[in-house]
Amino acid sequence: MSVRVRFAPSPTGSLHIGSARTALFNWLFARHHGGKFLLRIEDTDSLRSTTENTKSIFEILKWLKIDWDEEPVIQSNRLERHKEVANNLLKNGAAYHCYCSQEELATKKERAVKSGKSYQYDRTCRNSNRKIDGINPVIRLKTEYSGNTTVDDIVQGEVTIHNSQLDDLILLRSDGTPTYMLSVVVDDHDMEITHVIRGDDHLTNTFKQIQIYNACHWNVPKFGHIPLIYGPDGAKLSKRHGAASADDYRDLGYLPEALSNYILRLGWSHGDDEIISREQAIEWFTLENVGKSPSRFDTPKLRSLNSHYIMEASNESLLERTLPFIRCEISEIQRSRILRGMNGIKSRAKTVIELADLASIYIAAPSNFDDSCTKYSTKQHIELLLDVISIIESTTPLLEEPLCEYVKELAKKKNVKLIEIAQAIRGALCGKLVSPSVFEIIEILGMEESISRIKRFVDYFK
Ligand code: GLU
Repeated sequence: MSVRVRFAPSPTGSLHIGSARTALFNWLFARHHGGKFLLRIEDTDSLRSTTENTKSIFEILKWLKIDWDEEPVIQSNRLERHKEVANNLLKNGAAYHCYCSQEELATKKERAVKSGKSYQYDRTCRNSNRKIDGINPVIRLKTEYSGNTTVDDIVQGEVTIHNSQLDDLILLRSDGTPTYMLSVVVDDHDMEITHVIRGDDHLTNTFKQIQIYNACHWNVPKFGHIPLIYGPDGAKLSKRHGAASADDYRDLGYLPEALSNYILRLGWSHGDDEIISREQAIEWFTLENVGKSPSRFDTPKLRSLNSHYIMEASNESLLERTLPFIRCEISEIQRSRILRGMNGIKSRAKTVIELADLASIYIAAPSNFDDSCTKYSTKQHIELLLDVISIIESTTPLLEEPLCEYVKELAKKKNVKLIEIAQAIRGALCGKLVSPSVFEIIEILGMEESISRIKRFVDYFK
């Protein structure tokens, strides 16, 4: 039987980084086995689900290069089928109408809590077969309450519970809408899912879902529950930690290759390999190598992977990825300057935001000078900069190496360190003291622009 897995996000917000990892693990599992990776949008919580969120989930999956097979299934389109299954269970005696009112149940719950017991529905309607006119009943499953249920989880191993821990769960609410528990099982069955790979916060649901499969006489798929992702403080990763969704990381300037390599390694390993290409990941991925304990998000590690992938990327593709962060239209000249300067920029940037910041050197003269530049605005520095202007004017062709040599000679003649002059030039050209080689920048900007920037600096501090 060929593998069919699914990723089933609820479109109630942007895609959590843990869910992105669940999607990636499912995708790799499918591709590794030559099977199918399906999408199901679980949008039955109509108050919190939006089409914008669904759209943004599709987009971020595409950005992560996680493509799906077949048309995505929209769960809310399948309500009639979910109801049909519940009614069939009712007809064949595996489910029953329950007329207990909310008040009745709340009182029983309160009583259980007061006496220190955990609450479970006492099966009043299952035992009495009662019918109360004027009340719309819910449909409950006749859960098996003797014996055990064991899940042989591919990640967690064997997990067993005693069936007495399970409630007679509700399949259809009194307003006729199906519950999450029912919808998931019916959809997984109808989509012919062979392996359910999802976060381990769903492990307890699995025992209830198995009861529904059994009642329907359907094959139970295999399960693999992946541990959650925690923040550095050991709490479940959330917005409180700064960034928690895949969109957040995209907007912070991480490359999709870096983010997916990072989330792959977060909880899954292949020896000591850290840099893993998609092809290798497909070849090596198995659920058996997913760890059982939660993983902690480590931003420095992600940054270092990102800088690796930035160095690997072609300059053209980096420019394309940088443009959305530049937030202004750029001319052909600016574009070609950035491309020429890309090697110097990319070795200094760990994110695309940092790339864009450095690329701004090639777009316009600095709009202001960082406080750190003041140190290089003394009378002596200003005089040195005027000498540099003369050097630039007389160096033809205006290339990095001879420029550097002439400025070195100037430093020697004036008995100052080269770095003193270089920093003053850097401040003048960039408005800050971090940049690629200043001689490279002058070569790329050309005579006119370089001199005009240095003059602005001189006039500003003179
Ligand atoms: N929609 C559920 C969630 O987003 C996933 C359900 C499942 O994978 O079975 O947590």
